Amino acid sequence: MSEHRRHFEVEAVILAIDSNYEFMKCGLCKHGITAPGLVTVTLERGESLVIIKRVPAEVCDNCGEYYLSDDITEHVLQRAEIAINNGAEVEIIRYPAQEIGIGAIQ
Ligand SMILES: [Zn+2]
Repeated sequence: MSEHRRHFEVEAVILAIDSNYEFMKCGLCKHGITAPGLVTVTLERGESLVIIKRVPAEVCDNCGEYYLSDDITEHVLQRAEIAINNGAEVEIIRYPAQEIGIGAIQ
């Protein structure tokens, strides 16, 4: 197993917020609050680069840090794993490409 190096890059779009939404305080800058948005997650391992677009996340309105839920993190990593195992050099995936399942690629 090669080392698993992750880069999360922020390119966030804040979505409309409904009035029942409960804001969280950002754990990184401690000033901002997070709002639901879509982010682009970039993962790199060895020669492979996997870019996953439109991943739902909570995005800080102050520093831009974002937080993925455990479920979504797992799905994102699973998708990346499949692409890397298929030998993709660069793979761009729109989340969710399909309901994520092992072997569900194309
Ligand atoms: Zn913040």
